[in-house]
Amino acid sequence: MAVTSPPAGVLHGLKMAPSHVLRCCQRALNWIPVLFINLVVGWSYYAYVVELCVYTIPNNAERISYLVIFHIFLTMFVWSYWKTICSRPAAASKAFGLPRAEKELYEREERAETQQEILKKVARDLPVFTRTAGGAIRYCDHCQIIKPDRCHHCSTCEMCVLKMDHHCPWVNNCVGFSNYKYFVLFLAYASLYCVVICATVIKYFIKFWTKQLPDTHAKFHILFLFFVAALFFVSILSLLSYHLWLVGKNRTTIEAFRAPVFINGQDKSGFSLGFKRNVAEVFGDEAKYWIFPVFSSLGDGLSFVTRLVHIDPEQANSVLQHNGKSPADGKADPCVLGNNIQHTPDDSKEKNDAGQTVSVTMESGP
Ligand SMILES: [Zn+2]
Ligand SMILES: [Zn+2]
Repeated sequence: MAVTSPPAGVLHGLKMAPSHVLRCCQRALNWIPVLFINLVVGWSYYAYVVELCVYTIPNNAERISYLVIFHIFLTMFVWSYWKTICSRPAAASKAFGLPRAEKELYEREERAETQQEILKKVARDLPVFTRTAGGAIRYCDHCQIIKPDRCHHCSTCEMCVLKMDHHCPWVNNCVGFSNYKYFVLFLAYASLYCVVICATVIKYFIKFWTKQLPDTHAKFHILFLFFVAALFFVSILSLLSYHLWLVGKNRTTIEAFRAPVFINGQDKSGFSLGFKRNVAEVFGDEAKYWIFPVFSSLGDGLSFVTRLVHIDPEQANSVLQHNGKSPADGKADPCVLGNNIQHTPDDSKEKNDAGQTVSVTMESGP
C-alpha cells in the first residue's frame, strides 16, 4: 500500500505548532502578576468598604468622609495603573529603517566594518548622537532599524522601544516614552492609596488588637488590610523614590546602570538639562496635567535635547521627513557636529549641507 507523505506546508505547520502554543502559554503566564495585583486591590476594596466602613465604623460622618477619600485615591491609582498597562510602547518611525538599496547592501555584506560604513551613511541624516560602547552606530538586527537615542530592544515585547526604561512584569508592558509618566503616577498613587488605608484603618486596628472591639469576621480583614497596605507602601516607596530621582536627573533605569555613550564618549548626565527642565520632559510644561495620567511628556521620543547638542525638535522632524523621502550623500555628519561641540564654547549656528540649521549649545556643569 502506497503511503503518501503530507505536503511540506502541513509538516511546517506541525513543526510550528508547539512553539506557537508555547508562546501563547508564555503570553498568558505574563498576565499572572497583573492578575495578582488586581486580586489584591479587589480584596482591599472589599475589606475597606464592606468590612471597615459598613460593618465596623459606627459614625455616619466618619464613614462617608473615609469612603470619599478612599474612592478618590483608588480612582487615580487604578486609572494610572491601567494607562501604564494599556499604552502601547512607542516604536521608531520608518525614517530609522534602512532605505531599500542600503538594506540589500547591508544584508549582502559580511564584513562588520563595511556594514558600519553603510549604517554611518544612513545615520548622517538622523538625529542620532549615541553609539554602542565600541563607538559603532546602534543598529537592531531584529527590527532592522538604526536605534534612535535612548531606544532599546525589548526581548519580551520583541520590538525596539523609544526611551525604554525597563520591562515591568507588574504591568506586563514596557515602561518607556509612551507611558513613563503614567508609571511614575501609578507608583505615587499606589503609595498614597496605601497611606490612606493605613492612616484610616489604624484606629480600628488598635481597637481590634487590644480587644476593645469584639472578635468578628471584620477583625481578620482589618488586621490583614493594615499589614498588607504597610508592606506594599514600604516596597513601593523605595521604587517611587528611585524613579523620582531618575526623573530629576533625566535618566532611564537602563542609563542609570549603563551610562549612554555619545560621540564624545560616555556621559551619564548627557540628557540632563537641569532639574526643572528634566521634570518637564516627563510631566510636561503645564502644571494642570501633572497629576493626571494623560499624555503630557515633551518631545516625540525619537530625538532628545542633550546638554551638549541642542536640536530644535521641529528641525529634527524635518531632518527625519527629509530622510524618509530621499537620503542623499554628503550631509553634515552629526558626529562632526558633536565633535565640534567641545571646541565651541559659545552658542553658534551650524548649517548642514541639507540647508537645515542646527543650533549647537554648550552648557557647563552636570
Ligand atoms: Zn529591535
Ligand atoms: Zn518590553
